[in-house]
Amino acid sequence: MLPPDVCEDYIIEAVRARMILDSRGNPTVEAEIVTRGGGFGRAAAPAGASKGIHEAVELRDGGREFKGKGVKRAVYNVNYIIAPRLIGLDSRMQRLIDNVMVRLDGTPNKSRLGANAIVSVSLAVAKAAAATADLPLYMYLGGASGTYLLPVPLMNIINGGAHAGNELAIQEFMIAPVNSDTFHEALRMASEIYHELKSYLKEKYGTIAINVGDEGGFAPPMKETREALDALVEAIRRAGWQPGEDVYLGIDAAASHFYDEERKVYKLDGKELSSEELIDYYVELVNEYPIASIEDPFYEEDFDSHAKLTTKIGKRVLVVGDDLYVTNIERLHRGISVGATNTALLKVNQIGTLTEAFDYAFLAYRNAMKVIVSHRSGETEDTTIAHIAVALRTGLIKTGAPARSERVAKYNELIRIEEELAGSAIYAGKYAYSSLHEILGFYH
Ligand code: PEP
Ligand code: MG
Repeated sequence: MLPPDVCEDYIIEAVRARMILDSRGNPTVEAEIVTRGGGFGRAAAPAGASKGIHEAVELRDGGREFKGKGVKRAVYNVNYIIAPRLIGLDSRMQRLIDNVMVRLDGTPNKSRLGANAIVSVSLAVAKAAAATADLPLYMYLGGASGTYLLPVPLMNIINGGAHAGNELAIQEFMIAPVNSDTFHEALRMASEIYHELKSYLKEKYGTIAINVGDEGGFAPPMKETREALDALVEAIRRAGWQPGEDVYLGIDAAASHFYDEERKVYKLDGKELSSEELIDYYVELVNEYPIASIEDPFYEEDFDSHAKLTTKIGKRVLVVGDDLYVTNIERLHRGISVGATNTALLKVNQIGTLTEAFDYAFLAYRNAMKVIVSHRSGETEDTTIAHIAVALRTGLIKTGAPARSERVAKYNELIRIEEELAGSAIYAGKYAYSSLHEILGFYH
């Protein structure tokens, strides 16, 4: 017999998983949860290309199939190891359910069951509970009271690094449309800029330049950071907007990927820079361009250089830890203790459960840091991160260019959420009109 305060409807009745393909054509895990009340939740694990070394482990089969990237073992783990332990639990007990999976895995990095297995179940559980309650996921996770924020999209429209086949060392060149009253207008701005960029790149570099990278941004045959930043500024102007007023720029250096660990130098723009020289270089760029955000500016073990940069520019620029923190609360504690960054990137699959990702976000908030919810370079049609960004009121999301359906799916979901909230939500960019940084402080 269930205790009287437990509503039977939320009890998990079925858990199942299958293999689907992600946006790079690689296999990934999709999980489904059904509750007794008929609530249904489905979620898929995304996959990174430029992963942090401390991320939770994606379980891959090895062998010949899918060049070793198969997920049969991860799917098996959901269907035969996780499922029997979750059936009969209340789907609203997210923390308990995530703990059950973490314990069942038993490793520090989820390498036994696979973070790809665990994360798809963790997200699907929340979605099934939300569906049982007949609530949209953002409201189920974010609560019924308080104002919702529609996040400013940091849109990666020029791809480099591990996401493209060009010579740009910096991985992502982003635009952040802030001068808008609504999310859907911000998306229009971004789409127009994207298409102006396409024309500009075609004129300057020929048709080869309009091939796109993994996140939907163009992957032009550029070599230097400033070439890409100049192109963004030009595209913003051509679209009729003022860089640094209407639209800001952002970069994800993903610097671990151009760091030579042996020689302790960063290789970019045809030079070899020490970390001190790289700090100076970032400061120059911030002085020359309207850059509002710099992610992973240094090697992922170098907390001190991050802290030095944050001391120099942290009052006007978001210095963001991605590979540095890998959505791991222990690493975030370490970052906080030295003042490494003022912003934490959040990717649920880096840590593996929704509970741990939310704990990470709240730790960041308690320490006056901003949070950016992020996609991975390998994505699916799953739109869960749009809901997480709204639920956590991050005011910021990073989910690629306004192109390629696996990227656009998240933006389109935010359009639907905005419509559903019909005027009761605020587009975060409105408050960022003169200073992105200022606004990002207003709601925590
Ligand atoms: C990133 O580095 O922020 C990113 C989205 O890339 P990946 O998913 O390849 O780690
Ligand atoms: Mg990154």
